[in-house]
Amino acid sequence: MVVVMQEGALDHQIQHVIDRLVAMGFNVHRSTGETHTVLGAVGVRTDFDPRDIELLDGVREVVRITQPYKLASRHFRPEGTVVEIGKGVRIGGQEVVVAAGPCAVESSEQIHTVAERVAKSGAKLLRGGAFKPRTSPYTFQGLGEQGLKFMRQAADKNGLYVVSEVMDPSQITLMLPYVDMLQVGARNMQNYHLLRALGETHKPVLLKRGMSATIEELLLSAEYIMSGGNYNVVLCERGIRTFETSTRNTLDIAAIPVIKKLSHLPIIADPSHGTGRRDKVAPMARASVAAGADGLLIEVHNDPEHALSDGAQSLFADQFAQLMNELRMIAPAVGRRIG
Ligand code: PEP
Ligand code: MN
Repeated sequence: MVVVMQEGALDHQIQHVIDRLVAMGFNVHRSTGETHTVLGAVGVRTDFDPRDIELLDGVREVVRITQPYKLASRHFRPEGTVVEIGKGVRIGGQEVVVAAGPCAVESSEQIHTVAERVAKSGAKLLRGGAFKPRTSPYTFQGLGEQGLKFMRQAADKNGLYVVSEVMDPSQITLMLPYVDMLQVGARNMQNYHLLRALGETHKPVLLKRGMSATIEELLLSAEYIMSGGNYNVVLCERGIRTFETSTRNTLDIAAIPVIKKLSHLPIIADPSHGTGRRDKVAPMARASVAAGADGLLIEVHNDPEHALSDGAQSLFADQFAQLMNELRMIAPAVGRRIG
């Protein structure tokens, strides 16, 4: 960390800052210039709050150089992490892994139909919510355990793995036998109680970025899960809220290369929630793969026009099949492949 003192800062002010830094456990190196004094402080503690120094008399700026997360940082595993979901399905390797399925499990027939179609097109995971975090309490809230049963059966029948959202720590035990990956939704990215509980399991976790969360906050949420001992975390960019209203959210594709540099964790993209419109999903899915995404999460429905949730952003099965064919051409151009 670097502390830049104000022009003309008094000697006793500088000394006070040095004393505070030393008391906090830093090694301080002073560099006295013509107009500015700069203090280099080595040994940043993870719980350090820069404001504690910024507010001292004579301080102009505090620049943090190290990141506040450790386990999620690229330094921790420079070679990158590969999360194994099941036999032959690994996220973070050369293959771009696609999870597809409806927003919510609605019936046994629906999930079986969708599972068969997406498996044929090359999806490796079946997605579908059994517990739905809906913005309005009056809309469809999901089938609960019954939905998980339907999804497990449909996935097994078609050689797929299951990813489904967990909204509360109390649901974890119930969900474990049915799912291969637990999804933390955007609305729960900072539910630290839930993150800690997931840290105690060994199940892979799909951690979605909150709609107003910075990349640093997303990585700190991953740190919560990892600090409990569960390193099987996959991040997901699903669009953030901006001033733009043409799309439901703004899919932050730049977050993919940014996260690749900051963290060793795999990162996938969700162009369905990222755009909110069926006709925008394929272009953004293609762009995400080109940008280096390790996978995609895509909503597909057998009858999108009558879907109980997110029909407008759900692809028809034929559209999904076509998208997968396009991705098969794009992936090799960036050194990847699609199953
Ligand atoms: C979902 O994947 O169905 C979902 C609710 O996504 P998000 O948490 O990103 O809104
Ligand atoms: Mn949805």
